[in-house]
Amino acid sequence: MTEKIIPLADQRYLNRIPIVPAHLEAPTGLLADTRARPLHDLRISITDRCNFRCVYCMPKEVFDKDYPYLPHSSLLTFEEITRVASLFVAHGVEKIRLTGGEPLLRKNVEKLIEMLAALRTPDGRELDLTLTTNGSLLARKAQALKDAGLKRVTVSLDALDDAVFKKMNDVDFAVTDVLEGIEAAHRVGLGPIKINMVVKGGMNDQEILPMARHFKDTPYVLRFIEYMDVGTSNGWKMDEVIPSAEVVRRISADMPLEPIAPNYTGETANRWRHADGSGEIGVISSVTQAFCSDCSRARLSTEGKLYTCLFATGGHDLRALLRNGNSDEEISTVIAHIWRARDDRYSELRTANTSELKERKVEMSYIGG
Ligand code: SAM
Ligand code: SF4
Ligand code: SF4
Repeated sequence: MTEKIIPLADQRYLNRIPIVPAHLEAPTGLLADTRARPLHDLRISITDRCNFRCVYCMPKEVFDKDYPYLPHSSLLTFEEITRVASLFVAHGVEKIRLTGGEPLLRKNVEKLIEMLAALRTPDGRELDLTLTTNGSLLARKAQALKDAGLKRVTVSLDALDDAVFKKMNDVDFAVTDVLEGIEAAHRVGLGPIKINMVVKGGMNDQEILPMARHFKDTPYVLRFIEYMDVGTSNGWKMDEVIPSAEVVRRISADMPLEPIAPNYTGETANRWRHADGSGEIGVISSVTQAFCSDCSRARLSTEGKLYTCLFATGGHDLRALLRNGNSDEEISTVIAHIWRARDDRYSELRTANTSELKERKVEMSYIGG
């Protein structure tokens, strides 16, 4: 991938970063960016590999046997991940999500979870430590993940109909295996569990209602995600996006819904509850209703680059700092500079012609969702 890498160790670069005026700092006194958004979440991609080939993420034609996946030596080690994570936690991060690729494919992932679970916020609280998975290995691993200190999981599931699901994952993986994984995670206490369904028009939108019916009256919260133009491989077109308003309209016509307040500022999903009191759903309208103004997420790629937006074209190479003998204080200062300079709001600026952008955006499987 041709991609812009910003040389962090370069002092001239650091000097160019504007310092945020004091009145724009987060009310907590912790870090804030140029739009006064605090640094609250860290998403860590721990592998760029996956056992699925979801059509909207890792299309088979691109992610074939010749695809240049990262060599093992490029990956951050568990010690490096934990060290960086601890610096982010000192800056105010309270929620860490492991992702990928498929995070459960990373060897000994339980060990990493154990190391991250030992971190504490500056005032001594445990982190909200979670993970997003395609569920394929969940039935086998749920207990070990729980024992290692994972708090909860989010499971991606794009259809209940086996044929449609297999068309989406493109590796012939059966729905029942994912459903078993979800149940296993629930049994061992990895809840509350969220189920994410990416809706791609003409592909799985006929599954909106069956999914809503299936997860109604269960402990699981189903969330519908608008198909996004992440990366450059999935051939995204605006007319394949089913707007969240349409998802809500279709469900409401069958099972009346009413809106409910967000759980916290910066929550990506808009919440709706079944009027008969049988649970709630969420819609994530990344395309039709951008939520950049509350976006408090930083992303660490598998090889240790820091991205301040899912749609970034360049990352900041923290691995170089880790492996060049820089102190915690130095790396921490760099993180602060990067966050303070952040002005990303891609989704607010998106047009139907994003595929015409000249710079390559990073792939979802590399940066994580
Ligand atoms: N492999 C894991 C999984 O699928 O849950 C974790 C990584 S995956 C990249 C994280 C999330 O991103 C998944 O819920 C997936 O459905 C979502 N995703 C991937 N490509 C997307 C796209 N183009 N638009 C919207 N969501 C996408
Ligand atoms: Fe793999 Fe997740 Fe991407 Fe599907 S969405 S190809 S499961 S990384
Ligand atoms: Fe955050 Fe970038 Fe998504 Fe906006 S487009 S919500 S800034 S990740």
